[in-house]
Amino acid sequence: MSGPYQYDIQPAKHFINGEFVDGLAGRTFETINPTTNQVITTVAEGFAEDIDRAVEAAYRAFHEGPWHDMKTKDRAELMIAIAEGLEKNGEELAYIETLDTGLPISQARGQAARAAANFRFFAEMATRMTGETYPVDNHFLNYTTRKPVGVAGLITPWNTPLMLATWKIAPCLATGNTAVLKPAEWSPLTATKLAAIIRDAGVPNGVFNIVHGFGETAGASLVAHPKVSLISFTGETTTGQEIMRNGASTLKRFSMELGGKSPVIVFADADLDRALDAVVFGIFSLNGERCTAGSRLFIERSIKDEFEARLKERVAKIRVGDPFDPATEVGSLIHKEHCSRVKEYIRIGQEEGAVIAASGDVPAQFANGNFVAPTLFVNVTNDMRIAQEEIFGPVLVSIPFDTEAEAVQLANDVKYGLASYVWTNDLTRAHRVADQIEAGMVWVNSQNVRDLRTPFGGSKYSGIGREGGHYSFEFYTELKTVHVAMGSHAIPKFGAGK
Ligand code: NAD
Repeated sequence: MSGPYQYDIQPAKHFINGEFVDGLAGRTFETINPTTNQVITTVAEGFAEDIDRAVEAAYRAFHEGPWHDMKTKDRAELMIAIAEGLEKNGEELAYIETLDTGLPISQARGQAARAAANFRFFAEMATRMTGETYPVDNHFLNYTTRKPVGVAGLITPWNTPLMLATWKIAPCLATGNTAVLKPAEWSPLTATKLAAIIRDAGVPNGVFNIVHGFGETAGASLVAHPKVSLISFTGETTTGQEIMRNGASTLKRFSMELGGKSPVIVFADADLDRALDAVVFGIFSLNGERCTAGSRLFIERSIKDEFEARLKERVAKIRVGDPFDPATEVGSLIHKEHCSRVKEYIRIGQEEGAVIAASGDVPAQFANGNFVAPTLFVNVTNDMRIAQEEIFGPVLVSIPFDTEAEAVQLANDVKYGLASYVWTNDLTRAHRVADQIEAGMVWVNSQNVRDLRTPFGGSKYSGIGREGGHYSFEFYTELKTVHVAMGSHAIPKFGAGK
């Protein structure tokens, strides 16, 4: 499909100081519909000078004007107004997201709803932000306060771009910071709509800004900018490493949400019907382009044949196709380049000796799009590249184990540590394995169900820091300690000796 579209899609511009503007260099790039590989529209391409303009606007808005003096309650009301705007425009946002990313529309609708929920959640939390008090032996009262940090650089990836951007913007603004967002170049469109919603909600000019462009230019300039105090980044591990190196000279605060290769361990005593549903959903939802995807299945050997047979049946029947069809379960991958990368992994897997046990069907009419058949690999060993490297597509590897200790050892034998999933009905084992797994998050007998209060993030090469609940607030605020003397405690009298 290529236009006309159900909604008006305009060329995407930067959003700086409350206005949509072209880049200073006047350059643009194209954003592509991954289902057809046809151009949707053009996008302003930002460089250092555009970043500078946006950061200056954000810096002024932080230090002067209505945002600086705004009461928390009023800021929270603005966040609620943004949530309402997102809800009112939810259908359009889901449509644009599907057009720009290939995400199935039913799942894009869910992500749009989550975007609104992020603003509602952090609006409410902001009004409850408190400090701590430390009475000190009747002599002092020490207390802490939390202040916004300043201008935040928010750098986001192309998977679920709207939801992930709001996951950063909502706590960032709710705590009184100002922001410059650099959206991913492969999926820039919903950010533009989001900027209009934020403006229409009444957020003062300069508080929220967007500069589009590529990582090495726009992204790197944001990271290096001396007036940017913190960087919240979600993306690949190698990019995170590069960003930390670049931000070191201006000593920025970083939140790093990086890649994953998350294990799903299924023990023979588990509820296998539920485990099967969760394994299939965990890797094939969001086109497999999900940081927490359960991409490595470890299956107890006694049930391996039966479970893999059932998996094969399910994988072969996954509905691949037009992402705008509400029945579609897997749509097109984000970009030609990424699609080739995923297909290359499928080739590498076979070359390594793994066997494709099941492969879904890509309808012939989608030959021009970036479709990859959902793929199940068996005969996999944990040292293979397809078991170790993040593929970020609809590819599942299945590896058998004999003992609990072996399952844990295999699960941990990977450089990532983002999510993990354990399926067992043995209560003590569930807790024991959850305790031993090296990952920021463990789900027991569940798929990736989130509560926004709980910390989200990874260990090892999957990241630094946590987002969610008060963990987001810790990142987006500067802690200050005030020491107040309550009496005349002794002060050494240097120089008063003679
Ligand atoms: P990416 O690292 O290629 O790009 C992410 C963003 O960083 C983009 O906006 C890009 O333009 C920018 N960027 C690239 N180089 C930069 C540089 N040198 N300086 C500053 N910015 C730069 O990631 P991607 O391909 O867009 O996203 C997929 C990755 O994101 C996967 O690894 C996935 O696991 C990860 N991810 C992690 C989480 C999480 O919460 N842990 C969530 C979603 C995605």
